[in-house]
Amino acid sequence: MPFPYEAPVSQTLFDRAAVVTPGGVNSPVRAFRAVGGSPRFMVSGTGPYLTDADGREYVDLVCSWGPMILGHAHPEVTAAVQEAVARGTSFGTPGEGEVELAEQIVDRIDPVEQVRLVSSGTEATMSAIRLARGYTGRAKVVKFAGCYHGHVDALLAAAGSGVATLGLPDTPGVTGAQAGDTIVLPYNDIEAVRAAFAAHPGEIACVITEAAAGNMGVVPPLPGFNQGLKDLCADNGALYISDEVMTGFRVSRTGWYGIDGVRPDLMTFGKVMGGGFPAAAFGGRADVMAHLAPAGPVYQAGTLSGNPVATAAGVAQLKLLDAAAYEKVDAVSAEVRGLVTDALSKAGVAHRLQVAGNMFSVFFTDREVTDYDGAKAQEAFRFTAFFHSMLAQGVYLPPSAFESWFVSTAHDERAIERIAAALPSAARAAAEATA
Ligand SMILES: *Cc1c(COP(=O)(O)O)cnc(C)c1O
Repeated sequence: MPFPYEAPVSQTLFDRAAVVTPGGVNSPVRAFRAVGGSPRFMVSGTGPYLTDADGREYVDLVCSWGPMILGHAHPEVTAAVQEAVARGTSFGTPGEGEVELAEQIVDRIDPVEQVRLVSSGTEATMSAIRLARGYTGRAKVVKFAGCYHGHVDALLAAAGSGVATLGLPDTPGVTGAQAGDTIVLPYNDIEAVRAAFAAHPGEIACVITEAAAGNMGVVPPLPGFNQGLKDLCADNGALYISDEVMTGFRVSRTGWYGIDGVRPDLMTFGKVMGGGFPAAAFGGRADVMAHLAPAGPVYQAGTLSGNPVATAAGVAQLKLLDAAAYEKVDAVSAEVRGLVTDALSKAGVAHRLQVAGNMFSVFFTDREVTDYDGAKAQEAFRFTAFFHSMLAQGVYLPPSAFESWFVSTAHDERAIERIAAALPSAARAAAEATA
């Protein structure tokens, strides 16, 4: 192993953090609870690499959970940010950067006729749901188990896989009233959606789905599933909301829409479009968006919405994301996937590599995963051993078996060689792991 496994400076920081912050982190998955051990505190990133507080370098296969599709500290994005910062950081007035970012989104994504900028993916989905309810005058929302749409109260319901059961809150603090209008269905089960519409005629405002699920590990929609959702919504006067916070501008110039072509009524974006800053958006049909304040009665607002620094980063990043950039990300993804599956196969580890565009994840199971129950049935303990071996060898994977891996245009031969060198012993660790 190229460096010792202990990370004393990170450990000290984590101990300090735990005193002043619940669990020592500001977003739960960062805490390594799913894999054990203590998180690495990062101090810098360049290209495909992160450097932690102990001075160790990692090849980054998380990319900030998606946003850093050009790698860390891309010189052109950094320059755009520095220029914006020097002009002042927030005005509380409209600014040209917001118009430019909105124009880029509208230009790229045909179904998005108008867009509203917000600061997080959570805000985007929360606002899209409110708009769908305001537009339709209906209360109920259909979502799928295992799909994550941010920590929106109504969307944290993920009740068991019972068909058309009313959602129960999945977390204390969300009341029955907040979750009671959420219907949670199994992902990829179009008949369950049909049954829900039949059971609740005229009551369902919208169906929200991840365009391709990436928050239970990568579980792409089965052929026809998204189209089926779109058609059932259209037939029943409900809106089809495609959550592209993760996939948008990552898996193609548009996102998953560029791959399956199913036309949503509303879409949500975040992650890549912010260039590493808090910028997100929701948008879609102009006649629906017209219901949003101040054009219409559905209220939605934000002190830092369309922030000039965040929009400068987003605009700079999107400008660099041309066809060649996506070809590169796709090629890196294919190369890494090939290496992973080779190593695991050689070590005799049952696994499925599941792919949505250039997003992918490894399930430690021999069965295709099409829904949340399938995802949970994997041997996640093997991932734990695999993860820690990779980490010790300088490769930073998402610290959970239920997350997508992300690559960037900056992952070069040296980075890929590091991954290739680390994989055989990580695969052996996975093979030898016990529950
Ligand atoms: C990350 C994510 C969100 C939430 O975005 P935040 O910016 O973390 O609030 C919503 N939906 C999907 C599909 C996501 O991947």
